[in-house]
Amino acid sequence: MEFSQLRSQFPALTQSLGDYPLVYLDTAATSQKPQGVIDAMSRYYQADNANVHRAAHQLSARATSQYEAVRDKVKTFIKADRREEIIFTHGTTEGINLVAQGLAGQLKTGDLILLDSAAHHANIVPWQMLAKQTGAEIVPIPLTPEARLDQAAYQALLKRGPRIVALGHVSNVLGTVNPVKEMIAQAKAVGALTLIDGAQAIAHLEVDVQAIGCDFYLFSGHKMYGPTGIGILYGRYAALDKLEPLLTGGEMIKQVSFEGTTFNILPNRLEAGTPPIAEVIGLGAAIDFIQSLPRAELRAHEQALLTRLQDELRALGGISLYGAHQDNIGAVAFNLSGEHHQDVGILLDQQGIAVRCGHHCAMPLMQTLGLSGCCRASLGVYSNDEDVDRFILALKSVKDLLL
Ligand code: PLP
Repeated sequence: MEFSQLRSQFPALTQSLGDYPLVYLDTAATSQKPQGVIDAMSRYYQADNANVHRAAHQLSARATSQYEAVRDKVKTFIKADRREEIIFTHGTTEGINLVAQGLAGQLKTGDLILLDSAAHHANIVPWQMLAKQTGAEIVPIPLTPEARLDQAAYQALLKRGPRIVALGHVSNVLGTVNPVKEMIAQAKAVGALTLIDGAQAIAHLEVDVQAIGCDFYLFSGHKMYGPTGIGILYGRYAALDKLEPLLTGGEMIKQVSFEGTTFNILPNRLEAGTPPIAEVIGLGAAIDFIQSLPRAELRAHEQALLTRLQDELRALGGISLYGAHQDNIGAVAFNLSGEHHQDVGILLDQQGIAVRCGHHCAMPLMQTLGLSGCCRASLGVYSNDEDVDRFILALKSVKDLLL
């Protein structure tokens, strides 16, 4: 497939910033949206706008059927077993909070929670809240000097019988990939509940939650060419059904009286209040977009571009790369020797290059790497060789200016 043609489906990418055409290398923060997603959301508001599950009228019936059709679409997309295992959330952050808080009644003092030490704060802080409430203990799985999760240390920690193991699938900073299938199988063998933050994997990998074998898998629509404000919590039915709801109110109940309330069955039990309907419909269009692509070919295309990006950065000189491996996905983290990442980011922006600079919501990882922050260039389906060329040229001019 000619991937360069995909770019024309993304209206935001056609703009220039001053004299410079936009080079968008911040897809890991949020992806740009194809016209199909924008149109699907706009169509819903123009023609079908109504609340779901509530009214006898035709608009509500149309909205509800579109909304529920996306649940089926997500089920197929990640190869879940049942549609009830798909919960609409507002994003990965909300989903991990929902799981962590939902497990509060199942944990006691001294229970062990193993975390990925390269994790995004969204896969750290909710567990800290849970630990504070229950007296559970959090232990991070350390990294090797190559910035991969230390498998020997993980084996040793598993011997302590953790109740929960929560991992990232792909690091949002480095792009490193965790061997989740193996690690989940090992965690299950010692009886742990397992969760994977798939926010950075879902746009790049063909995710099969049953093959991975995890209890929970989470992602956000906006990182996979869909809208903000919508995310997915997948939970294996038996594990999901044991979660206490995080939010209560309308939609999630069966019977309410002042004497007591009973809750609905899954998935409604975990979806309180009016959901983000247009965003769910937009997510459905994003899945259609991804499914229309030859996934294996796309994977190879993205891999070749990332390898080229890593190689060009190495060849530039004066650049420190962090955890840059050939099998990484979607992102490269770097600093210009001796220069503050923020300065580099601002100077790149002046040439139309959008990268992210900072701690990337991964302060423990920054601490391990001995950094206050770094720059990250990240790729999407629309990224191409010209983006890499323009970025390297701009970074060279920043380097010439500063060094
Ligand atoms: N986890 C990872 C790995 C991420 O990259 C992000 C977003 O950057 C999140 C979680 C949080 O996602 P959201 O802000 O969409 O809830």
